[in-house]
Amino acid sequence: MTGQSPESELLQRVQASYREVPDPRLHELMDLLSRHLFAFVQESRLTKAEWSQAIEFLTAVGKACTATHQEFILLSDVLGLSTLVEICAQGPLTSETLGTVLGPVYRDDSPRRENGASLIEQDDGGQRIEVAGVVRSVGGMPIAGATVDVWGCASNGLYPSQDPRQPPANLRGVFTTDRDGGYRFITLRPANYSVPTNGPVGVLLRATRRSPGRAAHLHLWVRAPGHRDVVTHVFDAAGSNLATDAAFSVSDPLVRRMEPAASGPTPVRFDITLAAD
Ligand code: FE
Repeated sequence: MTGQSPESELLQRVQASYREVPDPRLHELMDLLSRHLFAFVQESRLTKAEWSQAIEFLTAVGKACTATHQEFILLSDVLGLSTLVEICAQGPLTSETLGTVLGPVYRDDSPRRENGASLIEQDDGGQRIEVAGVVRSVGGMPIAGATVDVWGCASNGLYPSQDPRQPPANLRGVFTTDRDGGYRFITLRPANYSVPTNGPVGVLLRATRRSPGRAAHLHLWVRAPGHRDVVTHVFDAAGSNLATDAAFSVSDPLVRRMEPAASGPTPVRFDITLAAD
């Protein structure tokens, strides 16, 4: 026996159990995960009751996931983890459009729509905006045929998957950029809303006295062959939760003014830059 503590002796045995992992990246991840999990438990002096509570919490998070709601992504968002992963993926010196959280309500079955079309399948009386921009590569070349997948909430702050009174494809659609890289669509000005708080993430937010409010935004997921995808937001500059966004997603280059225009939908310009893959 050496003079090691039982904790570090156990950690060494756990790390050694991964010695034969053929994938070097998987080996690195499991090794780091072991060290940081051990450090967390030891530094916090985690009790058995707290460990049980954490297991129950994560179990509840899993059970709250459905085909149209991802509570684990919501948890990642409110922990700041989703934004951290985006920041790490892009690096500090990039000119590509900033990535943000995907959020818990993304649906991969939005209808294809013609450039210029409206996403509004049910008029709830909200203010209309016309979002337009050009998708370019980092070098400035417009990208024709890029996919712009858009989703937003209704004026009541709810997405169709959260509101049975809305048509299922309301306020979402997939566009393809034209030969000049342009895209354009009409939708409703986004509303401030609260992240879903009826699940375990809501319990966490209440226990920690945190605001569940998200700054008003639209979501865009932009992809083009040979380029890295960008999942991003366009935020309303008049939104009320810009500084305290529950998902830590707001940054200045993504904020636009959306006040009503003298007539017609408010023009909102949002160009997108994709990095080469
Ligand atoms: Fe959202």
